[in-house]
Amino acid sequence: MSDERYRGNRDEEEYEGGDERGGRYVRRARVCQFCVEKIKAVDYKQVDLLRKYVTERGKIRPRRQTGACAKHQRIVNEAVKRARHMALLPYEGGNEAVATR
Ligand SMILES: [Zn+2]
Repeated sequence: MSDERYRGNRDEEEYEGGDERGGRYVRRARVCQFCVEKIKAVDYKQVDLLRKYVTERGKIRPRRQTGACAKHQRIVNEAVKRARHMALLPYEGGNEAVATR
């Protein structure tokens, strides 16, 4: 009999969307795309990339949607802000008062 063990088969028992009513969350692979691609820095000029991390209205997507790790989420955040400044990305839709720090 083969004693096969599934090495590297980490149990991914992560339940998300528990605190969001409606339960309509986007289920994505919970891997940080930047970690996968070994990206250490994100340039604000990489608008195509950044676009994936903001909504159509220009809001930065929450991490649960992007799957990015804390480290990279922060990097993306900075890049997005910079891109906005350079008018490469839209600012958040005028509805909410932006008080991001
Ligand atoms: Zn990462």
